[in-house]
Amino acid sequence: MLLEVRDLKKHFRVGGGLLQAGGTVRAVDGLGFSVDVGETVALVGESGCGKTTIAKMVLMLERPTEGAILFEGRDLAGLSGADLKAYRRHVQAVFQDPYASLNPRLRVRTIIAEPILAHERPDRAALRRRVEEVLDVVGLPATAADLFPHEFSGGQRQRIAIARALAVNPRCIVLDEPISALDVSIRAQILNLLADIQERFRLAYLIIAHDLALVEHFSTRVGVMYLGNMVEAGPTEEVFARPRHPYTQALLASVPRPDPDHRPPLDAIRGEIASALAPPPGCKFHPRCPRAVERCAIEPPAWRSLGRGHAGACHLAEAT
Ligand code: SF4
Repeated sequence: MLLEVRDLKKHFRVGGGLLQAGGTVRAVDGLGFSVDVGETVALVGESGCGKTTIAKMVLMLERPTEGAILFEGRDLAGLSGADLKAYRRHVQAVFQDPYASLNPRLRVRTIIAEPILAHERPDRAALRRRVEEVLDVVGLPATAADLFPHEFSGGQRQRIAIARALAVNPRCIVLDEPISALDVSIRAQILNLLADIQERFRLAYLIIAHDLALVEHFSTRVGVMYLGNMVEAGPTEEVFARPRHPYTQALLASVPRPDPDHRPPLDAIRGEIASALAPPPGCKFHPRCPRAVERCAIEPPAWRSLGRGHAGACHLAEAT
């Protein structure tokens, strides 16, 4: 297994001032998944479900409160020196907003060269070749290296961000909402590029997204998150064809379809996601769940297998 996340938790202390009681935000509250070589795993859920916090922990921008992240079987918490540097090289990221993620004061050549120089010391000619090589891989001409980010369109900037991630030969790329800031007309081009690159370099992708259409067409396995927990996971085709958790069912029902007869129920997901500072007892989804029974407000549902690689946490999942 390339990347494995075990019972991961991230809790933040907040408040505690004169006018405000303190508390603990349980942004991620005991969650596991894995990503194999060359596969695409998606984490999906509404904003506030904890998926971005997971991405930050995988990228070592945040430390877990509990639990472990393993890369090729080794716990990140035990890595140091060259091993830590190798991990940072093997796991790269492409973020949502290519306008914010590229330094506007640097030329593209410097932007792409930065991560290379953090890991090796190539001579000028080799560095130049490498930069031009990755620009070619993402479909940009060598002349793009001498320009600044503002001289490109949104889609081209995302290509530059992908080139920067690719420049150090990673094994896995975390894609945090990779197309949601782009024009609808160029989203497919970026997805095709990501698919080509994945095949060519046997890359693994961990996608963080709220866009279910993207997840359905692009991932091999999916994990649905709600308030810091995984509520359902499995092969994407299976989860989308036979969603077993009421939250997943409601998310899927709320997706607009081209079919004129399809009318998404207006109350597909009623109410707002609760605060991670004071999550509801029992099943965290129970205040919004159309199928909740008395037991749901008292007892958290256990995570269990539902067959065909599918698993979930709902008291009524077997009855669905
Ligand atoms: Fe709904 Fe109960 Fe299942 Fe939670 S455990 S999703 S409240 S039916």
